[in-house]
Order: sequence, then structure tokens, then C-alpha cells
Amino acid sequence: MYKGYVYLIGAGPGDVRLMTVKGQQCLEKADVVLYDRLVNPLLLETTKPGAELVYCGKLPDRHLLRQEAINDLLVKYALEGKRVARLKGGDPSVFGRVGEEAAALEEAGVSYEIVPGITAGIGAATYAGVPVTHRDHGASFAVVTGHDKSPAGQPIIDWKGLATGVDTIAFYMGVKNLPYICEQLIEHGRSPKTPVLLVQWGTVGRQKTLTGDLATIAELVQKESFSNPAITLVGEVAKLRTKESWFERQPLFGKHILFGRTTEGPSEIASELTKLGADVFEYPRLLTKEDQLDADISFEQYDQIIFHSPKSVDWFFAQLRNKRIDIRSIHARFYGASKKSIKAIESFACLGFGVHEMIESDRRLVIASKNWETRERKRYDLYSEHDFFVSHTDEVIEQSNFTCQRILDEDRVDTIVFPSAEAVRMVTEQILACQETPETLSKRAEVICFGPETAKAAIELGYEVQHMLQKPSKEELVDMLKSNVKQSR
Ligand code: SAH
Repeated sequence: MYKGYVYLIGAGPGDVRLMTVKGQQCLEKADVVLYDRLVNPLLLETTKPGAELVYCGKLPDRHLLRQEAINDLLVKYALEGKRVARLKGGDPSVFGRVGEEAAALEEAGVSYEIVPGITAGIGAATYAGVPVTHRDHGASFAVVTGHDKSPAGQPIIDWKGLATGVDTIAFYMGVKNLPYICEQLIEHGRSPKTPVLLVQWGTVGRQKTLTGDLATIAELVQKESFSNPAITLVGEVAKLRTKESWFERQPLFGKHILFGRTTEGPSEIASELTKLGADVFEYPRLLTKEDQLDADISFEQYDQIIFHSPKSVDWFFAQLRNKRIDIRSIHARFYGASKKSIKAIESFACLGFGVHEMIESDRRLVIASKNWETRERKRYDLYSEHDFFVSHTDEVIEQSNFTCQRILDEDRVDTIVFPSAEAVRMVTEQILACQETPETLSKRAEVICFGPETAKAAIELGYEVQHMLQKPSKEELVDMLKSNVKQSR
């Protein structure tokens, strides 16, 4: 019998781009994904449609899945013949109990591999602008647990060796025990003036830091109510921390955006926002299924063809190719309902016009997605007389509701961007599955709409719209978000 396979993968410290290429490839292949609390839920968006997602962190209605139960699940799924991804924060071998999981798989005779990741001690330090070693300030580096199996939960460590033998020390899970840790280090010979840097939620938009020294930091942590997940970096390198790191200086650092999506794949604007430092969640996730052409349809009979998405344009030209129709036999003018559609038309060396340039005609064909047909077609009386054709269907991948739920639970949305009225309706339909409504979402986040049609749709559905872009463009959105960030800094 074929036995499944298990990938024990390091997801990196938070920023989704900090997962290795190999880790990403394994994740995309998995039938089942078991993931921890500290794994960025956005990574789940790259799992294959239909993959089963198992959360191993704490939930309000359930205690943490115990390690033994996780081991058993890994074995169970593998023996069912599934490809299993066990996704762990940071590096799986740094306080990640990967050794126990590997041993359980060995024992059950299940094949597996371990994919390393960037550990938080290095990732969070780097994103806070501090290198863990430096020729002038630190020649050695240790990762140390701040929490242990000892009865009092305090780490059993060779304090003398650590205090005097290592330059830079990264404590994991150490916030609660910080007073004890500082005390031990000082008592065993480390100067109370040794610089200390805490980085909470390193490498993501919520990153926060705190600086002090061994004598002062414990009190500061209490005052600022710093909590886990945080790395405590002790050593001279910590003094290299500047007011803001390269990461925190990005123009949209700290913005958490839910970006309404109506097509498969990343939107160009959303990718730009990510590049500028925002945490962006495109929602919902969609999978495009192409429709077959009705054998009888003849494009030659129309004098206007209106495309409602770039996909519809691609589909149309693919049909011409398949049916061996020469473009010169089509006399219709081509219209695009959006700039993107016009651009797609023009990429085929045909002129594309905006729909506002249309004149009356009774030989008109509209090509759009199934979603547009069900959601938008009736709302438009733009094209009184027309034939209609569905080029493709954008199916919602249910997993994205799972991701959305986790992101909302973690309070990681402060801005919602609706690029179109269709996006407003799409998000609103899906969000119900996450027990949210336009009203509750408006309480959590500012709503930004691209233009009056979009704002109208949002208000009708119950959103409070804070901003409407005068000219719906990437530049204007970025400017607005930047000024928002400035106000909150
Ligand atoms: N395997 C993980 C560590 C798991 S232990 C790794 O290699 O990073 C969990 C601890 O890791 C947390 O308590 C915290 O100390 C640290 N940690 C994980 N993610 C972090 C992050 N984004 N920022 C700061 N600390 C983090």
C-alpha cells in the first residue's frame, strides 16, 4: 500500500516571503496542512484548492492540540496515503519539537523530510535593524529558551557559561521570565549595562520593539505590557538599534489591508501595496474555470463586442484561434469595461474603447464571467439590447474564508479596499461565513472605495465608507494610505 509523505516545514518568522522556495513548493503539494498559531495565516492561501487545513493552536472552544495528538494525526494522515505538510513558525528545529514529530514518523515507518526556515531570533532581529553578529560588537550567537520543562517553568541553563561565554543571546518565549533571566545573567557576571532589545511580532506589520539594558528592561516590559511572541536579544549588538529600522521605515509599514478581489491571481495594486510595506490580504481567493464555446455562436454578426474582464478578452482570442477564425473577419469594435480589459484588448493589436464611448447598436455582444452575470448584469441597463456570453467562472476557494477568519481573530485588518462594486458584493457574500457583516467590518476597519459606483454599492450594503478615491488609480490609493499612516505615527 502506498504510504503518504510528511513535510516538516519551517514557515519563517511571519513575513510570508521569508519562507523558503522549497517550503513553498511542499506546501503547494499538500493534501492536509497542520499549522501552528505563529504561522502567518496568509501562507494558507497558497495551499491547493480543497486542501484540508488543521489548526494546532489554541481556540476559544478547545485546548491546544497536544503534541502527542499532533504526532498521531501526522501518522494517521500519512497512512491514509496523503501528502501532509506540518507547518511550523520560524525554523522547525528551533524550539519546534520537530525531533519528536520525526521520531513518531520514523516509528510508524512514514517517510518525511525536514525543510529549514528562518528562525525568529534572526528574522526579528534583522527586521528590527540589528545583526546578530558584528565584527565590532559580537562574535558569537546563541538561541536559548526562556521557558522550560522545569517545575517552575524557568529554564535550566548553564547561566555562568551563557553570561560570560556568548556575546549575543536570543531568548525565545522569554517575556514572562524576563526578570529571572536578567537577574541570572547579572548574577553570573554579565554587566547590568548590557543592551537589550525586545522585538514583538517581528517581520510583520505589528512589529514592535523595546530597548533597555539588563538592569532596566524587565520593568519597561511590564510598563509597556509587552507580551509574546517576542524575542529578547541581549548583547552589544542591541545598541545598533536605531529609532526606526529599514523595515519600519517603509511607507506603508503597519497598515493591515483587506483588498477585495474579483479575479484569480494577485492584483497589481495589491502587490504594490505589499512592496511598500503593508500587510495585504486579498480576499476572497478565486479559481478560474474556462467555459466552453457554444458551437453555434458566430462573432462575425456583431458590430460591438464588450469585454468585462481581461480573462474574457483572452478567452475570446483563444476561441478565434481554436476555431481558426481570422481576426480580419470580425468587424466589431471592441470595448473594455475597465482599463485592464482595454489593455488586454490592445495587447492583441486591436483598438480597445471605453464603454462610455459606445453608441446605440442592436448587434452587440457582451462577454463576461459567470460571477458578473449573476451579480452585476441586472444592475446595468447600459446594454439594453445585447447577446451575452459567459467566458469563465471564478469559483471561490472556501479555504480563504478560513484564512479570513484567522486574520480577523488576530485583529489584523485596519483598512478595507474595494476596487469595484463587484468586489464589494463578492467580499460581503463571503464574509458572512466568518460571522461578520458590513456593519461589524466597518467598526474594525476604514473602508476605501475606488470611485462613486463602488462607494454606492458599499453604502447600500451597510458599510461606512470613509474615503472615496477621486481618480481610481494606484497612485491615489497609495497617497491616501501614506497620509493615513503619517497621521497614526
Ligand atoms: N521555531 C520557532 C520558535 C518557536 S518557539 C522559530 O524558529 O522561530 C515560539 C517563540 O518564538 C515565541 O514565544 C517567540 O519568542 C518566538 N517568535 C516566533 N515568532 C516570532 C516573531 N514573529 N517575532 C518575535 N518572536 C517570535
